[in-house]
Amino acid sequence: MAKIDWMKEVESRKDDLLRDLQSLIRIKSVLNESQGNEAAPLGTEVREALDYMLDIGIREGFAKKNVDNLAGHLELGEGKELIGVLCHVDVVPAGDGWTVDPFGGEIKEGKIFGRGAIDDKGPTMAAFYAMKIVKELNLPFNKRIRMIIGTDEESNWRCVDRYFQTEEMPTVGFAPDADFPIIHAEKGIADFDIVQVSGSAKENKESFTQVEVESFESGRRYNMVPDYAKATIIVQKGQTEFVQAYNEYLKDSGLDGRYHIDNGYLILEMIGVSAHGMEPDLGKSAGLYLAEFLSQRSLNPKAAEYFQFVSQYLVNESRGKKLNMHYQDDITGELTVNIGVMSYSSSKGGKLGVNMRYPVTYPLEEKKAKLEQLLKETGFIISNFDNSDPHHVEKDHPFIQTLAQVYEDQTGQKAELLSIGGGTYARSLKTGVAYGALFPGRSDVAHQKDEYMYVEDLLKATAIYAQALYELACDDQE
Ligand SMILES: [Zn+2]
Repeated sequence: MAKIDWMKEVESRKDDLLRDLQSLIRIKSVLNESQGNEAAPLGTEVREALDYMLDIGIREGFAKKNVDNLAGHLELGEGKELIGVLCHVDVVPAGDGWTVDPFGGEIKEGKIFGRGAIDDKGPTMAAFYAMKIVKELNLPFNKRIRMIIGTDEESNWRCVDRYFQTEEMPTVGFAPDADFPIIHAEKGIADFDIVQVSGSAKENKESFTQVEVESFESGRRYNMVPDYAKATIIVQKGQTEFVQAYNEYLKDSGLDGRYHIDNGYLILEMIGVSAHGMEPDLGKSAGLYLAEFLSQRSLNPKAAEYFQFVSQYLVNESRGKKLNMHYQDDITGELTVNIGVMSYSSSKGGKLGVNMRYPVTYPLEEKKAKLEQLLKETGFIISNFDNSDPHHVEKDHPFIQTLAQVYEDQTGQKAELLSIGGGTYARSLKTGVAYGALFPGRSDVAHQKDEYMYVEDLLKATAIYAQALYELACDDQE
């Protein structure tokens, strides 16, 4: 292969690259469906960002296609096989607390600032300039290169869903929308509810009940460890002792909490420690702690069934062992279970919102059937099962080898293959990996205030993508 100084090629286009990236950052491409119409289903500024990329693609002589105003692509080269680069130009809202204009694209102290700087406008522009460079160098491609531009990555992925309904799936591809070096394996992610079957636990007015649970709730998002829980109860007898026991429980668990009386009800609140659902052990679930406390009291039967289920199967069970869901493989490690949303009410019964992240070789259907059986025996069922399959490209796939070699050439660092519990945009490709653009050791400021990307990293990423595209698309040449 020709010896090319990729970094030099990037440096000579640095000013143009920064100027184009600033223009892209200045488009406030936040999802705005209320303002949407057929021409701009996700809002006019989201459409504007898509058009911006397609227009500069035309400027550079790429072929373009707009797919239902939800996605598009830019293509160059010829050949049967297709090398994909999957990017997105939508951004999350700016939020508060910025010290610079979130849509200004300001450059200072070696960084370019703005919403989308690292997620994903900066990496998108790096990949775009990589295409521009390989085109301008007139390299002998025997494959096509296509940048696919999504506009709904931050919300519902309607862009890639729509795109791949009619458009070609790349032979191989990478998404510059996560971390360097290479994320080659991502766990499967299933969200579902475990619902108490109403009436399975008969209310028995005869037997002694110390506590009637009116309602209980904790958590809003399946993929987060809840940091707050609240129970509304009636203590029939011995409220003083009950409250004492609660205070002691708080002390033992090391969590903050409080109680007060409201309208004859005793309200218990607990404050936990939030964490991402991909590793629940990094947090302390307020919901599970409060449920565990309640499960140790004499409750009305329906509540007893719910809280004892939680205590027996879910407390200290982030690996799903007692539910027989536990599994582990060498590629993606252990299955994790996060209980992100919990609720119980005397009228509706109980519900648990589960975020399960499972290894790539997990026998999902078999394990799910077993779980359903276990739940049936305990008075619960599964509902709203929503699954995103695991994603994996084999370590020794030639495509991975090429990306790894290029990364090592450009950085002098070893390209460790990463496997994660989260999901990246790359999972919408058949044979695809996440490849940058956040370098190891850099703090992840995506979705944060004062989001930025180091200019130096932007240029380095561009060089990596340019060399990668060249080697992937000219691999038969000598
Ligand atoms: Zn992104």
